[in-house]
Amino acid sequence: MKKTIIRTGLETLYFSGMHHWLRPFVGGVGAILTLHHVRPPRPEAFQPNRLLEVSPVFFEGLLRRLKRRRVDVISLDEMHRRFIDGDFKRRFVCITFDDGYKDVLRWAYPLLKKYELPFAMYIPTSFPDRLGELWWVALEAVVAKSSRIGLLINGKQQFFECRSVREKWELYEALYGYLRSMKTEDEVRKTVRDLCATYGVDMASFCRDLCMTWEEIAEMAADPLCTIGAHTVNHPMLMKVPSEDAARAEMEMSRSVLEAALGKRPEHLAYPVGDPTSAGQREFRIAAELGFKTAVTTRPGVLFKAHRDHLMALPRISVNGEFQQQRYLKVLMSGAGTAMWNGFRRVNAA
Ligand SMILES: [Zn+2]
Repeated sequence: MKKTIIRTGLETLYFSGMHHWLRPFVGGVGAILTLHHVRPPRPEAFQPNRLLEVSPVFFEGLLRRLKRRRVDVISLDEMHRRFIDGDFKRRFVCITFDDGYKDVLRWAYPLLKKYELPFAMYIPTSFPDRLGELWWVALEAVVAKSSRIGLLINGKQQFFECRSVREKWELYEALYGYLRSMKTEDEVRKTVRDLCATYGVDMASFCRDLCMTWEEIAEMAADPLCTIGAHTVNHPMLMKVPSEDAARAEMEMSRSVLEAALGKRPEHLAYPVGDPTSAGQREFRIAAELGFKTAVTTRPGVLFKAHRDHLMALPRISVNGEFQQQRYLKVLMSGAGTAMWNGFRRVNAA
């Protein structure tokens, strides 16, 4: 539903050409792009996590467009410098990848090298340690391979049919929403672990199959184009970690582990999931106390000068598989799409 509204909004903006005259007002000083997977499209009809991926062809189109535009593609350190120095002579873009997937090394990295564009990768350290739980992927696998799923909800066993592709999409959306509504990360993990055990899905396999090894991360980290950022240890929605000490440890330990593994101390952080239910004032304060230079959310938006005072709560533009067309991105990067989303508030760091 929400997706449809957003898409319609973007189409309207694009075709009315409204983003041209909105640009001076909403355009801001730059933007940070979020990507997850870059890989060729797969044929399966049931791919509820498809929104986290773009194709290599689309990605190369994006890089070519960035090269052509009068915009600097810069590293996170350079973005930080520009904020501190108030150097906003030219608009800038930072390219960031979350989670450290193998397909980024295989498909995106050669293109980033070809166009000589800097980028950042935020790594949850449990993923290369092969202890990570990619619960949203595991949930997809459970629904994909089952025709009926039983779940204990409020102490009552309930069953859901998921035979057809359509039922699978609907059930995934419902279960995903149900999990995201849970109060603690522990409840989410326990529920998905139980589903995996019941329906014969090996949760550990996703980490192994999808995520880079430490050797692969080190290969990219050695490239001056690449900045490695922290993304916690276990990739929890930090606001759903009740203990402040535990939330702090997630952020601090991931930095220490990355420093030990790669020989360089990460200075930038991304909050896992990163929406307002996953990262809020407590997390922004802890990130500042830990001395990170910048920390990014997934709250949608472009950057304004005023974000200098909110470097622990920077918005990003998701390069989203559901909007895999260059014209959408053009509108998003003009700031017009997200300004509508944010009700024309410039800084959303509450
Ligand atoms: Zn992530």
